[in-house]
Amino acid sequence: MLREMGIRVWPVGQESVVQAQLVPADAPAMASASVRATPVNTDELRKAATAALGAAQAPGRAAPASVTETGQRQAGVAAMGWEALRDAVAACTACKLCEMRKQTVFGTGSTEAQWLIVGEAPGEQEDLAGEPFVGKSGQLLDSMLRAIGLTRGDAEPRRQVYIANTVKCRPPGNRNPAPDELAQCEPFLIRQLALLKPRIIVAMGRFAVQSLLRSDEPVGRLRGRVHRYQGVPLIVTYHPAYLLRNPEDKARAWDDLCLAVETAKLAAQAA
Ligand code: URA
Repeated sequence: MLREMGIRVWPVGQESVVQAQLVPADAPAMASASVRATPVNTDELRKAATAALGAAQAPGRAAPASVTETGQRQAGVAAMGWEALRDAVAACTACKLCEMRKQTVFGTGSTEAQWLIVGEAPGEQEDLAGEPFVGKSGQLLDSMLRAIGLTRGDAEPRRQVYIANTVKCRPPGNRNPAPDELAQCEPFLIRQLALLKPRIIVAMGRFAVQSLLRSDEPVGRLRGRVHRYQGVPLIVTYHPAYLLRNPEDKARAWDDLCLAVETAKLAAQAA
C-alpha cells in the first residue's frame, strides 16, 4: 500500500525509520509497516495536533452562506435527514450541471463514520457509478486510507470514513467546478457534515479547502497544521488526482495522513 503511494518501505530498526505508530496497533494494512517519509517527525506532528486541539476553540464559524441560494432552500436543506438529503441531491436542478449528469454522486461510506473525507467533484466514472472516487484517484485514495487502517467499507466506526464531494454532479470534461456551482451545492455538503458529526475532516485539494476554510491559499501552504471547521479538526492535504500527476508530493501527503491520525486520536481522547 505504501509502495503504491510512492513511499519507500524500510525494515524496522533502521535509523530515521518512522514506524507506523500513529496507527492503531491492529490496523491491518499497517501492522508491520515501517515508513520512511523524510519530513515526518512524529513529535512535531504530535505537538501540532496537541496545540491545535488544546487551543481555545476558534469562534464557531457560521455555516457559510451561499450567495445564490434562497434562504428558503438553505433552510430546507438544513432541516433534512440523510434520506431526504439524498433525495434532494438526486432531484437538484439548481445549476446547469444537472443538464449533463448521468446521475448525482451523493457520498459513500458509513453515516456512523468518524472521518469525513472531502473531495472535489465527480469525474466520468463517478458519474456513471453514482459513487465518489471510483476511478484512478479513487484507487489511490483507497490505498491511502488502507495505509492508515481506514476504509469506506464495513468496519468498526473508528475505522470507517465517509466520502463526499464539494460538488455532487460531474462538471463536463472534468473541468473545475465554477463558483456558482460550488455555491449551489455547498448547503448539501454542510448538511452532510452536520448529520455525520465527524471527529475529523480531511479536505483534499483546492476546492474542498476553499469551501470549508474559505481560503484561497494554496494547499501547500495550508497543509501540515490542524485547522478547524466549526470546532471539528480539519487537515488539509493534496487531492489524489494531483498526487497521481505529482508523485513527488506523496511523502507530504503521508505526513498529512499521519497528522490526521494523531489528531483523530487526540480528539477521541478529548471526547
Ligand atoms: N475526484 C474527486 O474529487 N471526487 C471524485 O469523486 C472523483 C474524483
